[in-house]
Amino acid sequence: MIPDNRRVVLRHPVAGAPTADDFTVTTAPVRAPQIGEFVVRHRYIALDPWQRSAIAGRHSAGQEPLGAGAMPPAEVIGEVIASRHNSFSEGMQVRLAGGWQEYSLSDGAGVTAVDAAGVPLSAYLGVLGMPGLTAWASVMRLADVQPEQVVLVSAALGPVGSMVGQLAQYRGARAVGIAGGESKCERVVTELGFSQCVDYRANDYPAALRAAVGTGADVYHDNVGGQMLIDACAVLKDYATVVLCGLISQYNDPAQAVNLPVAIPIMKRLVMKGLVVYDHADAEAEFLATVRPLVRDGSIRYLEDRAMGIEASGAHFARLMAGRNLGKTLVVL
Ligand code: NDP
Repeated sequence: MIPDNRRVVLRHPVAGAPTADDFTVTTAPVRAPQIGEFVVRHRYIALDPWQRSAIAGRHSAGQEPLGAGAMPPAEVIGEVIASRHNSFSEGMQVRLAGGWQEYSLSDGAGVTAVDAAGVPLSAYLGVLGMPGLTAWASVMRLADVQPEQVVLVSAALGPVGSMVGQLAQYRGARAVGIAGGESKCERVVTELGFSQCVDYRANDYPAALRAAVGTGADVYHDNVGGQMLIDACAVLKDYATVVLCGLISQYNDPAQAVNLPVAIPIMKRLVMKGLVVYDHADAEAEFLATVRPLVRDGSIRYLEDRAMGIEASGAHFARLMAGRNLGKTLVVL
């Protein structure tokens, strides 16, 4: 017998920065699986910045904004609790696009089994999941980071940024982070092992940024866009590489976008590359084979920002989109 499924839906279309009041919890039964189907009980829901774009209908071409009653999408990790599927049996741990709810019914499309031996399951939504692969694509492919280079990365305590810096150092480069607040910066250095981290809210920024990169950064991985991108480009060497990964400063209100003046990339002869993680699915096997042992032995570290219970999802998402999260944002069920 499968209990009723609680799911979080929009109370109304979301305008600007999300708040807990934009969301509400509804309940609906889960149908028993038919032949070729199985039911997953969700254990972890990943809250990611891209979900703000999905709510606004901007995550991919042809999308409409989500309206009242719609459930935001999310990757989840869970356990198969009832199955009439040949490949997914009861007790298996799986990752799937399950959304902001406690259970999902699946036919197996897009579902992967996860190997939890030696690493926490939740890591497959962060350091060993989509954010980790994003960082891998940036460091190993787009920027092709080399020993002795200086790699600058914004949102450095977050799941993507923290991995970019650590993978850059794994390659022999020096990682310099940018983060909001003294205590975040301290954790980037002491807990994640970056060489330095600069607080963009401090009075001496961006002079401190210039000092931190010395003669200039070779690579900038941009998670933020807007003024952060402009300030970072100012401290790059000529011919540096910029990996354009995210625009979190603009997701809540793209109308206020601050754009990089084109003269900066021209004058510095910058190489700017756009990153879309879905282009790099073919790197996943190599990424996992390399990074899983490093996570297991503690050489790659990560932080998680957890909230308990499905009803916490809206407030926890608002916390992420206000930049108050400390690491990978997760709802634990
Ligand atoms: P994070 O947890 O790092 O994102 C939240 C952090 O962003 C905050 O804690 C905050 O840290 C920082 N931030 C900076 N400016 C703002 C702002 N104006 N409002 C809110 N937060 C802000 O998320 P992820 O590591 O998951 O993702 C990082 C970026 O990478 C995002 O832009 C995301 O969309 C993008 N991304 C892109 C992918 C791709 O394929 N291109 C794939 C995956 C992620 P602080 O205050 O320390 O700066």
